[in-house]
Amino acid sequence: MLDISNLHAAVAGKPILNGVTLHVPAGEVHAIMGPNGSGKSTLAYVLSGRPGYEVTDGSAMFDGQDLIALAPHERAAAGLFLGFQYPVEIPGISYLQFLRESLNSQRRSRDEAELSGAEFIKLAREQAALLGMDAEMLKRPVNVGFSGGEKKRAEMVQMGIMNPKFALLDETDSGLDIDALKAVGAGINRIMRAPDKGVLLITHYQRLLDYVEPDRVHVLRGGRIVRSGGPELALELEREGYAEAAA
Ligand code: ADP
Ligand code: MG
Ligand code: MG
Repeated sequence: MLDISNLHAAVAGKPILNGVTLHVPAGEVHAIMGPNGSGKSTLAYVLSGRPGYEVTDGSAMFDGQDLIALAPHERAAAGLFLGFQYPVEIPGISYLQFLRESLNSQRRSRDEAELSGAEFIKLAREQAALLGMDAEMLKRPVNVGFSGGEKKRAEMVQMGIMNPKFALLDETDSGLDIDALKAVGAGINRIMRAPDKGVLLITHYQRLLDYVEPDRVHVLRGGRIVRSGGPELALELEREGYAEAAA
């Protein structure tokens, strides 16, 4: 489903990814772990098409399409969902407006009918309830004044509404208390655990993986994957630290 091969990327002329090779088949959840500065967020940004992140070699294919050649909105339309370590705040627009426009622009690009206001509100309320979030909160401007946990729950509401084929989630667990962590983990399982979907979960710590058990765990270090294993690798990293485990 996601097929990354020998991917090299540079930021401001500085090489950060140095040959990442990773294959995530449909139906699987893979975790990428690694020390600070190893290139985890850079990988997420490169796959999202963020300006300034230059692919210098290798490829990333998604469902047989050359991801790198697609514009960011085309990547979303192809069914890729990206959750970032630092969610953006958008003061002038309510979360509901933002979600509705995101969904409808995706539906337009697939030649699907837009949802009416009433249909959309029903969907948003259902998804918010599943995340234990008050839908009233989504009337507020996007992420402005949201706590870390509220931002991540709202992001999971967004993911439930968009219903993507593949989710790439960068440090979705950072700053969450235990209730929010459980809610986010359950959201990922509910929305994304399906035979035709895939997840790449980027995380510095093991604790989210207590709730979303990965099929494979990869260690990123110095911009390449230095080790891969099953879920037990995450526990080993937690116990022994990255320096020991990656040696
Ligand atoms: P991680 O998410 O694993 O902590 P990052 O991908 O954020 O790592 O960063 C990897 C490396 O790339 C770090 O050394 C960081 O300083 C560098 N880097 C990231 N973004 C930039 C940038 N815009 N300009 C220069 N260096 C950057
Ligand atoms: Mg970091
Ligand atoms: Mg990061």
